[in-house]
Amino acid sequence: MLSPEDRLYAIVEQGLCIGCGICQSVAGPDTVRVVRTMSGYELPVVVGDLDHATVDRIYDTCPGTRIDGLPERLVDADASLDPVWGTWLRIVRAWAADPIVRHEGSTGGVLTALAGYLLASGRVEFVLHAKASTTTPTFGERHLSFTQADVMEAAGSRYGPTAPLIDVDDVLDRGQPFAFIGKPCDISALRNHARHDPRVDELVRYWLTPVCGGYFPPASMDAFLDRVDVDPATVTGFRYRGRGCPGPTRIETTDGVREAHYLDLWGDDASMWQLPWRCKVCPDGIGESADIAAADTWPGGSPTREDGDDDPGTNGVIARTAVGLELLEAAERDGALTIECDVGPDDLSLWQPHQVNKKHAVAARYRGIADEDRIVPLTHRLRLDELAARMPDEAYAQQREGTRVRIGQGKATQPRPVPAEEIR
Ligand SMILES: Cc1cc2nc3c(=O)[nH]c(=O)nc-3n(C[C@H](O)[C@H](O)[C@H](O)COP(=O)(O)OP(=O)(O)OC[C@H]3O[C@@H](n4cnc5c(N)ncnc54)[C@H](O)[C@@H]3O)c2cc1C
Repeated sequence: MLSPEDRLYAIVEQGLCIGCGICQSVAGPDTVRVVRTMSGYELPVVVGDLDHATVDRIYDTCPGTRIDGLPERLVDADASLDPVWGTWLRIVRAWAADPIVRHEGSTGGVLTALAGYLLASGRVEFVLHAKASTTTPTFGERHLSFTQADVMEAAGSRYGPTAPLIDVDDVLDRGQPFAFIGKPCDISALRNHARHDPRVDELVRYWLTPVCGGYFPPASMDAFLDRVDVDPATVTGFRYRGRGCPGPTRIETTDGVREAHYLDLWGDDASMWQLPWRCKVCPDGIGESADIAAADTWPGGSPTREDGDDDPGTNGVIARTAVGLELLEAAERDGALTIECDVGPDDLSLWQPHQVNKKHAVAARYRGIADEDRIVPLTHRLRLDELAARMPDEAYAQQREGTRVRIGQGKATQPRPVPAEEIR
């Protein structure tokens, strides 16, 4: 039988850890720490006595091993269910009403505007989300916002490793109502945690998420910096996008500032995206269990070279729950958001073809993972089998076999985590 340590590391070694930090909160920082490791990723490292009961709970909480759709009690009687896009009450194209927020935001600043509105209207005491890391410039780090200035500090997408849930136990200990903004996998982690800790449902009043195609692997960051002729050791600040849509990728170094286009970072279309394995087999990049999910609106999923600093940005926004719909409409009524028009799931599919493809392919990829006797993430209420059944048999078989081949080639395998620096 595997030791508790081996079981925890199996999640990492099989490429399923996204580094959200929830395992540190579950086990406690004296037992598990999520730190930057030699692989470049932020990953859990066992630093104390880990037992099987704690690892059982980690398996039930980790978004690498368990991902659920919207809790049934939150599905409104009036909600529609789209096979790809999940539960929704209203889908709109919108942006932050304040032009500064819209400009600073990643797309149209909707999430930043909602965070500011939640604070200004006294609905929450603070917002748990992420800002640029103060220690590793390309990473994100967990951030608590109490003021509009705090919220603005966190505007923009952090595509690098980010662990917003690293100390969520301490955040819950504050005993104050708050909103959480995190990637869909972070939302899943906190929803999972709610099954074990009643404070989550009591205190997390709003769950907001960016639609997410996956994050940027550290090795790909090194390759990007090499392409733009920047020595990683000289980087002091890194802004992925924002200040226009997508706005420049801005690299601050000890030698000055370099700017690149979003496409220089990611590649010219979604097929070129470099992603961690967990993101390639993600069953929920669309934030099914959030109140509100906000997305980009580029037809085809990527900007063109002409899209840049002068595009003010427009979000596709999905209100999934009654709480999300009330917030969306109150924010518009009170002047925080501008809603341009109602749209629907077909528009989202036009803007996010990569999400549509992945959602159909995930069940076949999971079969490939099972074929290799690996950990198959447990999922509920995500319609994965229903979507897989729509695929031609040949496409299903290709996805399944492709997954097996990639696992065989080691593309889904990570080394056992070794901390990059001494853990204090
Ligand atoms: C890793 C990643 C991949 C994405 N992939 C896609 C995609 O495939 N398709 C698509 O349409 N959109 C994608 N997005 C979302 C898109 O970049 C915008 O975030 C989204 O449209 C919301 O825009 P906004 O202007 O409202 O955000 P903003 O107003 O800039 O607000 C962003 C909010 O998200 C929080 N945040 C940013 N990064 C993180 C992070 N890593 N962890 C936790 N919180 C964070 C910030 O703290 C801030 O509150 C992705 C975002 C991320 C972080």
